[in-house]
Amino acid sequence: MMWGHRKQWQFLRKSVQLEKTSHAYLFSGKKLLGKKEIAQEFARLLNCQSEDFDEKPCRKCSSCREMEKSCHPDFLLIENTDKIEETEINLIRHLGNWLSLKPGLGKFKVAIIDQFQTFSLAAQSALLKTLEEPRGQTVLILISDYPELLVLTIISRLQEIKFNPLSSQEIVDLLLAAGADESLTDRISHLSSGKPLKARRLLNPDDLKKEEERIKRFAGMLNQDLVFWFHEIEVLTKESDALPENLEVWLDFIRLLFLVKMGVVKKGNLDQNQQKLFGKAESIPASKLKSLLFSLDKTNYLLSRSNVNPRLAIENSILELF
Ligand SMILES: [Zn+2]
Repeated sequence: MMWGHRKQWQFLRKSVQLEKTSHAYLFSGKKLLGKKEIAQEFARLLNCQSEDFDEKPCRKCSSCREMEKSCHPDFLLIENTDKIEETEINLIRHLGNWLSLKPGLGKFKVAIIDQFQTFSLAAQSALLKTLEEPRGQTVLILISDYPELLVLTIISRLQEIKFNPLSSQEIVDLLLAAGADESLTDRISHLSSGKPLKARRLLNPDDLKKEEERIKRFAGMLNQDLVFWFHEIEVLTKESDALPENLEVWLDFIRLLFLVKMGVVKKGNLDQNQQKLFGKAESIPASKLKSLLFSLDKTNYLLSRSNVNPRLAIENSILELF
């Protein structure tokens, strides 16, 4: 099932239909917009064997089935799991060799590199050689939440497809199409900040509850003093596995708070629990919220590289509130 981004998807479909696909793409945009899911769907589409283009990807042909089982010989998904430069360079070299082979089952060899900005500069540069060589039936898709961190000479060789947050109505429509209870769609849409993958996650009642608890904890912190904040940040950064998700909750809540303050989202449209959370936080000026949003987003971006001290970086961001 596709989750929004109709324009981008139609563009990709058209390029396949007209046989005008690029050799290398950059799918850029914020986290949880579904870039990887669409890249995988694009890979299915490229190699689907159905006779009827409108049916593609059909999910029935042998190519689609191999994709479903994650064992398609012409599909490669590279993820940077350990963030060690030597491993990263080896992965990129392996990719170069892999792409030089002829496709077996499909028409194209398709490779996706997820979160390419987390690769070291040396590993990114190693990819240049691959991008410079003329390729036959190959499609490489780089995915990045922060394309600003990519080497410029690489970006210039890619066709960029930008992904934006969906409107709240689009999220509501997707939730309804997924069978969500109508009484929940507005609530989830407000919390998901236009991110379809987040909306999908919040369809799970446990995740929704967890998210609202995190927001509650964060909203309760907003009017506290620095000593309290620094203590909370210390606790937060000790749970390093949950840190990205917690930061995401903070960012989305601050964004929603800002939108309510600016009148873009009507407070009356929020459910009662959400309205309560806004209580004290409402006294924070919009300008401070905006600086905090900007600064925390930058921190999030810096943390996607491994060598930043999370505690110090978050403390610095929070100073915007004082
Ligand atoms: Zn198929």
